[in-house]
Amino acid sequence: MCAIVGVINSKDAAKTAYYALFSMQHRGQESSGISSCDENGIIKTIKASGLVTEVFGKDSFEILKGDMAIGHNRYATAGTQSLLDAQPVAVNYALGSLSLVHNGNLVNKDSVRNELINEGAIFATNMDTENIVHLIARSHEEHLKDRIIAALKKIVGAYCLLIQSRHKIFAIRDRYGVRPLSLGRLKDGGYIVASETCAFDLVEAEFIRDVRPGEMITFERGKDEFVSEQIFDPDPRICAFEYIYFARPDSVIEGKSVYEARKRMGAALARKSKVEADFVIPVPDSGVAAALGYAKQSGLPFEAAIVRNHYVGRTFIEPSQEMRNLKVKLKLNPMSSVLKGKSVVVVDDSIVRGTTSKKIVDLLRHAGVSKIHFRVACPELKFPERYGIDTPSFDELISSKRSVEQVREYIGADTLEFLDIAELVGSLGDERRYSLVSFDGDYFIK
Ligand code: 5GP
Ligand code: MG
Repeated sequence: MCAIVGVINSKDAAKTAYYALFSMQHRGQESSGISSCDENGIIKTIKASGLVTEVFGKDSFEILKGDMAIGHNRYATAGTQSLLDAQPVAVNYALGSLSLVHNGNLVNKDSVRNELINEGAIFATNMDTENIVHLIARSHEEHLKDRIIAALKKIVGAYCLLIQSRHKIFAIRDRYGVRPLSLGRLKDGGYIVASETCAFDLVEAEFIRDVRPGEMITFERGKDEFVSEQIFDPDPRICAFEYIYFARPDSVIEGKSVYEARKRMGAALARKSKVEADFVIPVPDSGVAAALGYAKQSGLPFEAAIVRNHYVGRTFIEPSQEMRNLKVKLKLNPMSSVLKGKSVVVVDDSIVRGTTSKKIVDLLRHAGVSKIHFRVACPELKFPERYGIDTPSFDELISSKRSVEQVREYIGADTLEFLDIAELVGSLGDERRYSLVSFDGDYFIK
């Protein structure tokens, strides 16, 4: 998972990219980077490990000059060297310089990489993104656009890409449109492309439309009109997990508000199981919208009984045996004054490994809750995602080999219920297909 942004024909493009990345910090906290391009076609890149505010300072924008920029926030994945794998990837090749950012995951990355290595290519990173750069550089097409298309014909996977050359930015979404990508207009007439529309709100851009699955949009310096081409046949399968957990609630994906979708998921949960309880509480922040939807549908009161500390960041404190709840407690504190002796419905967006949920149940018991009805606003996660979300392997996914009853026993709740796939799709709107791999194992990109 990652965030990407591109800005063109706008004064101080890198600063706008910075604010956009700041608003999309939730999509990746591992590293951040911006690559700008000035009127002379000089591309400069700054990238480092850390949060957006840690990577860029005032002097960054003395370096990142120009009316074009692309940027990236990288999501933490296990076991890779974070700085090496930071984006944008900036290179020099036969046609000059370019830089590139990617959100998604290429499923044939190993075979493409091995083929390239056999032909003599040298790789500097662990990223699948580097495959695309090599394929572009090795293509014999005369124009960059044709080289990009030739490269994309060789890769299989989910991707949103922004490619910046000396005078152009290309925005591309794979034919399934698994990851979101939206187009907006800035007040000074420039364009912005970003993973989520919450970025447009911050930089006061006007939403134009989503980039279409299979579409390539070419923006050119100094040109008011952009060129749209359908380079692959569209077969839309937007990732349901964007609506469930990943995207910010104030974003709109493919015309649907993430917040409203979450409320509908919560309402669907309330319809399927009527329980007696004193009130509904969310696991903040990701469970809030679903819990509101649940409360409204069930008629039960809503209490914000678990308080979240927003300043946790990365803590290196390892809890000792006696304080095994410390890690969760640093972040979440249930108020026993509200909870003592009560029967509660706890709503969260998802259960992945089950470790957080188990600790939350522990903390609630400790706070004196008498009955815990745990409700999860998505179906059981049974399969690793593979199209850009770093969900763990089969072994780590608690629902992959356990029944609902076994998961209930593991987390220690009195009752446990998930949405089923049909209820999820009903909440999202069944007029289109979604990527539901985590739930149904239908790996439609092979
Ligand atoms: P678990 O109980 O499975 O350990 O944790 C469930 C919590 O993890 C939920 O509150 C959910 O919001 C959160 N979550 C779901 N998907 C992801 C993800 O991809 N990354 C992170 N960091 N948290 C996630
Ligand atoms: Mg959460």
